[in-house]
Amino acid sequence: MKINKSLTLTKPDDWHVHLRSGEMLAKVLRDTATSFNRAIVMPNLSPPIRTTYDAVSYQREIKAALNKDSDFTPLMTSYLTDETDPDDLIAGFKRGVFTAAKLYPAGATTNSDSGVTNTLLLDPVFSAMSNAGMPLLIHGEVVDHKIDIFDREHKFIELVLEPLRNRHKNLKIVFEHITTKSAVDYVRSSSPDKLAATITPHHLSVNRSDLFAGGIRPHLYCLPIPKREEHRIALVDAACSGDKRFFLGTDSAPHLIEEKESSCGCAGVYNSPNALLTYIAIFEQNNALDKLNSFASLNGPEFYNLKPNNKEIEFVKRSSPMSFDDLQVGSSRVKTFVPPFPLFWSAK
Ligand SMILES: [Zn+2]
Repeated sequence: MKINKSLTLTKPDDWHVHLRSGEMLAKVLRDTATSFNRAIVMPNLSPPIRTTYDAVSYQREIKAALNKDSDFTPLMTSYLTDETDPDDLIAGFKRGVFTAAKLYPAGATTNSDSGVTNTLLLDPVFSAMSNAGMPLLIHGEVVDHKIDIFDREHKFIELVLEPLRNRHKNLKIVFEHITTKSAVDYVRSSSPDKLAATITPHHLSVNRSDLFAGGIRPHLYCLPIPKREEHRIALVDAACSGDKRFFLGTDSAPHLIEEKESSCGCAGVYNSPNALLTYIAIFEQNNALDKLNSFASLNGPEFYNLKPNNKEIEFVKRSSPMSFDDLQVGSSRVKTFVPPFPLFWSAK
């Protein structure tokens, strides 16, 4: 990797993205396919992508929406439910349709109502995944509303993740979009080929006070919810360390503006247009640009047993900051994430 006023990275992948479907997919896909060579595509459509058959048709829809000259590869995931059939899941994995399976605790976030009500019910599925070497991706929050929203990730580790990992010691797990120091410490304490975590650009950039800076900021609202500053700092530390257990996953999740600016606004931040530039800014602020290639482009493929991409992407530092327009979708818009600092880098 070369650094001065320009920066060259191995082409990164996005290990966690929501591409939606239909018109929204057609609009957001270009931003992901421009910055990333591959992406782990989340299955929480309505209805969710549950079977190999569902995933084949969703993957076809995504490929049809790509520009003809694009070589972007969508990596598909299965949405686990209490009724997931392990035979179909593993057959889909062995055929190369599925790259991983996603566990949403029921009710944890957008379109998670059909998620898993009790992870014990899925032990046969987890055993089959473990034997096949299929990674399990976890939205790591408990859903008990008696537990404070800011404590739900921390509690998940003790109440769900640790017992699950004790029952399935060989299962490869990605603890998705971590937001707490507890999650960072927990991942650091485990074997790098068994447990890893993705970290989003927005959780590296904002803390819970930013959600309420001068008034409520619906476009920063996401789940897991951003935490105190000490947690944000722990995330930055983990990402910038180059530790192979931490890698890039944007969790870019587009919602129409009226779904965000509402009396009950949706969770999700749309950051695909500037995710890479936000990561660059964070790593630069922390004198860690030399670790960015590992975080963005090497650690993810290594965990998933894939080769890094053999292309590069170059960035240049500008004298004036970048700005980003909202994305027009039908008669509405999707607002692009605005980090609380200027973005001076742009893709060449
Ligand atoms: Zn997500």
